[in-house]
Amino acid sequence: TRTGRRPLVAGNWKMNGTRASIPVVEAIRDGLSPDLASGIDALICPPSTLIGSCVAATYGSSVAIGGQNLHARPSGAFTGSISAEMLADLGAKYVIVGHSERRAYHHETDDGVHAKALGARRAGLCGIICVGETIEEREQGRALDIVRAQLAIGLPKGATSADTVIAYEPVWAIGSGRTPTPKDIAEVHASLREMLDKLAGDEAGRIRILYGGSVKPGNAREILSVDNVDGALVGGASLVAEDFLGICAAY
Ligand code: PGA
Repeated sequence: TRTGRRPLVAGNWKMNGTRASIPVVEAIRDGLSPDLASGIDALICPPSTLIGSCVAATYGSSVAIGGQNLHARPSGAFTGSISAEMLADLGAKYVIVGHSERRAYHHETDDGVHAKALGARRAGLCGIICVGETIEEREQGRALDIVRAQLAIGLPKGATSADTVIAYEPVWAIGSGRTPTPKDIAEVHASLREMLDKLAGDEAGRIRILYGGSVKPGNAREILSVDNVDGALVGGASLVAEDFLGICAAY
């Protein structure tokens, strides 16, 4: 690509899906043409209950499977939690860290995000660190300050492209059908990339920055062609194979 960074199209199923949803991941597997698969990375993050069966369904294909959350510690008395090691043991390659829904409903802090990103690295997973401003923060002109601070605290030292992806997800764009203008996306991504250069040194240029929030087949081409947008984190549209494939086809 233009930047040397391989695009990543990542699906986040959130709390959706049962075993009856395995055909969706199979359809994504079968629908990714060899041409497309050679140019982009495709990832689906199903609920934890489906990771094992999704890994089995995509084994040997170009679709990777990831988790949506993790506990920072490797094991212990943390009832109901799942560690990076457990995700890796199932065959997951990635894990989403600090999604805005985790921050809002589970009180995740930037320090917690940092600890979880370290946990992902420890287990050999690639952490997808999510940042994004609320609508109030954007209206107050604070969007750049907010996402830069989230990145500065959340990103562990020594991050590499093997263990880190960044996702910019404005909270007000998630599940709302609203998206920032390409100009606004470009401004945030340029700012995050500048910050990444300061934080990650020589490796920064290889770390991908995704956009997330109401990405659909109809707007994917416009969004994915914005400077410094290295892929998408897709919620709702990743639940429908044709929609997810339609977004991949924007490349
Ligand atoms: P959405 O979700 O695509 O449904 O807006 C994006 C996300 O939360 O990652």
